Amino acid sequence: MKISESFRSHFIREVLIPLVLVLLIIFTAATFTVWWATAKTNRDAAHQQQQIIETSLTQSLTEMIKQNRSLALWQPLGRRLDRALQDTPWLNQNVGTWLSTMFGHQLIYILDEEDRPVYRWEWDKNVPVAQFEHLRQPINELSARLKTPFASGGHAEAIDFTLIDKRPAALAISIIDDGYGGSGRFRLVSVKYLDASYLNSLSQRSLLHDLYYADGKPMKTGANYLLKNHLGDALGYISWRPAAPGTQMFQVIGPVGLAMVLIITLICGVMIRRLWLSSLKLSQSLLQLSASEAQAQHLAFHDVLTGLPNRALVEERLTQALGKLNRSPEHVALLLLDLDRFKQVNDTYGHHAGDELIIDVGHRLSQEVREADTVGRLGGDEFVVIVEGITAFSDIQKLCERIIASLARPFTLLGSETWIGVSIGVAMAPQDASDRLEMMRKADIALYEAKSQGRGQYRVFDNSMDEQVKTRQLIAADLRAALQNKRDLAVYYQPLMDISGQQVVGLEALMRWHHPQRGVISPGEFIPLAEEMGLIIQIGEWVLREACRVSLAWPDISMAINVSPLQFRSAGFVERFKAIVQQEKTLPSRIELEITEGVLIEDEKGAQEIMRALREAGFRIALDDFGTGYSSLNYLSHFSVDKIKIDRSFTQSLGVTENSTAIIESVVRLGQAMGLTVTAEGVETNSQMAALAEAGCNELQGYLFSQAVSEQEIAALLAPDKAS
Ligand code: C2E
Ligand code: CA
Ligand code: CA
Repeated sequence: MKISESFRSHFIREVLIPLVLVLLIIFTAATFTVWWATAKTNRDAAHQQQQIIETSLTQSLTEMIKQNRSLALWQPLGRRLDRALQDTPWLNQNVGTWLSTMFGHQLIYILDEEDRPVYRWEWDKNVPVAQFEHLRQPINELSARLKTPFASGGHAEAIDFTLIDKRPAALAISIIDDGYGGSGRFRLVSVKYLDASYLNSLSQRSLLHDLYYADGKPMKTGANYLLKNHLGDALGYISWRPAAPGTQMFQVIGPVGLAMVLIITLICGVMIRRLWLSSLKLSQSLLQLSASEAQAQHLAFHDVLTGLPNRALVEERLTQALGKLNRSPEHVALLLLDLDRFKQVNDTYGHHAGDELIIDVGHRLSQEVREADTVGRLGGDEFVVIVEGITAFSDIQKLCERIIASLARPFTLLGSETWIGVSIGVAMAPQDASDRLEMMRKADIALYEAKSQGRGQYRVFDNSMDEQVKTRQLIAADLRAALQNKRDLAVYYQPLMDISGQQVVGLEALMRWHHPQRGVISPGEFIPLAEEMGLIIQIGEWVLREACRVSLAWPDISMAINVSPLQFRSAGFVERFKAIVQQEKTLPSRIELEITEGVLIEDEKGAQEIMRALREAGFRIALDDFGTGYSSLNYLSHFSVDKIKIDRSFTQSLGVTENSTAIIESVVRLGQAMGLTVTAEGVETNSQMAALAEAGCNELQGYLFSQAVSEQEIAALLAPDKAS
């Protein structure tokens, strides 16, 4: 798949980046929230732990002072102390051992009112009372806090943390009850070092792990509690491994969260991929759509077969070209082209070959014009060329000649060579016209002119042609009127002679029109007009009626009438002709129908069928103007006719063109081989007659014997025959 760069960058800009941004924002926010929650939970926990340790320490002090108190308030001690000072074993048992073993006090002293130690127990034994000075200062500091002044009686106690020999310790002082409810002279002092066992029990109480004491700086990694005495003097730190529930929580949800991130990223990745594929598909089908739109656009303005501009585009180009004329001194030429013989080729080689031929013609035309010129196809075998920027009229003449020469070269169709030709009508702007419709009309008139003057030529429009067209239109209107009123129209008859030129063997009905103003108008002029106007069927049937009527008078003579190709192909033609003959009370066998090649080439199968039907009905068929077409001899093998009428151009070329005799001879031979009558038309001289007789013709027709004459004149002409 080819991906356009713009599609890719559009997708990245519009979809990928926003999505990645959203994901990043979500992940960042989630990470921050987790971090914040973790930190806050840890912070709260740390704060709580501080409180716990503080409470635990306070509790331990409270317990210790209670333990001291229990002894200080023990009446037997107060009562006996004076005496007991001499009784060390009793003191050992009731003070030293009691406090050390029961409560784990480590240093235990009894001081007198002068603060002199009178009893001393350290660790697990009684020791001499000397060496006490290291305790002096902490004791003094704490003594100042004793609630009850020493002298005023009543018991009092104080406890605090302190440093003894730089070691942290809990120091408790209680005034020993005198045994009678008053405060005595003695004080009980005990010390518990914050040693491993102390911290261990503190740890059990506080549920904090790995408690230990650090005197200098606090631990960086652990949690620290600043141990202070009641004056707020720092004594060192108690450190422990902090419980961090936030971190724990993070450790649990961290991997889950990470997995979620991965899964979400993966899902997004898959979604993006799908989105990419589907939008790629969409963009591609959009592309295809616009391609087919462009294609449709192209088709709307181009001929499907040749790819050349079609009528719509040609008209647009012509309008544009004409529009530019105001601003330039140059000229525009419009060439209308009509292929000669195209229908014939189409019929001979089939439609596919015909299409191929049209394509070839398109190529050849395109080669003859400049890039800037337009070659278009209007449909069928009609082409058009628009030439702009003409400065010399001779350029157009040269172009027309080049085109005619180019299309006169043979075309190869289905492996064999064939020939066509082209007729060209030219209109020039601005001299002939300045708008499109007028240009088309005038080029068309010129084309008509080129075609009617024998094809294979070009004609440039001039105003006389326009006159002719106008005249034609007037004549057409007159013809319609004449036909309606059966006025000024007549059927004349030209005799066909036997080869001796003595005997009339047939008559050919030929139309005559005596126009009230214009005089005699030749059928060569008004028959095509009648064909164009759709009057030919009506005219043809009228001629048939007339001919039938006249032929009744001459039962031995055949009567020929001319049938236009249009008439021949019209629906119900055979039936109508049969009906007319019947109505006129004659027989089809008396009537000869002259048809031309034009009848045959349009639709070979249909023509064959009509001809068979005509012959079955009894009509005889003559092939008129034989030799003017292209493959007349060819047709004879496909169509069964009764007569060939060699065109007068052959007759008149006798003695003029070298091989005309040979041609006529071969036609006669072929015709006779097929059992046909061969008639020569246009016999004007005796030498022609002699040559035709020599060649073996059967019948002759021409001015040498008679022109076409009126019904009455025919009667006069034939009367002697009749008489003889
Ligand atoms: P066509 O069928 O070939 O008729 C023969 C033409 O040759 C006639 O011309 C005739 O007057 C002329 N012609 C006869 N002999 C000579 C001759 O020795 N020398 C010369 N130069 N010409 C000779 P016309 O009557 O002018 O008719 C011209 C064409 O008009 C006819 O050619 C025919 O194709 C057509 N046409 C005439 N009448 C009718 C008609 O009633 N129906 C139809 N469909 N076509 C008709
Ligand atoms: Ca004829
Ligand atoms: Ca003829």
